[in-house]
Amino acid sequence: MHCGNILTVDVEDWYHICGADAVADVPRTQWRVRPNIELLLDLLEECNQKATFFILGSVAENDPELAPRISAHGHEIASHGYSHRLATSLTSEEFRGELFRTGQILEDQTGQRPIGYRAPQWSLSESMPWAFEILRETGYRYDSSLNPLPFVGNPSGSRIAYRLEGAGQGLWEIPPLVAESWMCNLPVGGGWGFRFFPLSMIFRAIDAFNADAQPAVLYLHPRELEAEGPRVALPFFRSFYTYGRRTSAVLRLKELFSRYRFITIKEQIDLWQRAS
Ligand SMILES: [Zn+2]
Repeated sequence: MHCGNILTVDVEDWYHICGADAVADVPRTQWRVRPNIELLLDLLEECNQKATFFILGSVAENDPELAPRISAHGHEIASHGYSHRLATSLTSEEFRGELFRTGQILEDQTGQRPIGYRAPQWSLSESMPWAFEILRETGYRYDSSLNPLPFVGNPSGSRIAYRLEGAGQGLWEIPPLVAESWMCNLPVGGGWGFRFFPLSMIFRAIDAFNADAQPAVLYLHPRELEAEGPRVALPFFRSFYTYGRRTSAVLRLKELFSRYRFITIKEQIDLWQRAS
């Protein structure tokens, strides 16, 4: 059964860069998340596509109209935690507190209780079984934090979605798209790889997943829609993979939207569960 593909958006601002805490108090006049999300909502609507939005609780709290705007367009509301601190830097109680607080904010604002979670900078790992247990206990149905890439994740981790066994039993794990290469998995599904690799290579990776009836999971940040937007000063390579060249993701998204159908993670999981 062919199942469509998935676009995910980590809803945070240009300064939500893990480890760059010096810019924590950026004044309201410099926030850019809202105009970039509006641009994306228009684009999704124009192309008749749906996406899953992992929203940072603090961003939703600061702009209470943002999550309702996304929800009103028929997209899925999911959680990116509250503070954008790495999950590895939180105690289990802090992790639970962030999940609860963000879930409550998003539910109050949109009427949708999130069932999906993505950690800042893919910072969950199999060595944190307690985190998956907490996700399951608090009513989550899936996690999308394990990236099969070197440096940010586990390069030998699964490239396709699966259900957890043991800790967090029954939760779905939804990894982002990577392409296999002779050297290592490559991040064609988002971040610097999505902006850098030829589109034909990204299409090939998506087509290979779809040929196996698997959805390809892409990911995007609002700041990537604004090539000339503000940037946190970062070392060269970090800056490149965070912000990329001064080109916008919009043209690439248009190409993808004209070629593939995108549905939400929740819709995809419902399809899998109906089929099983
Ligand atoms: Zn993030």
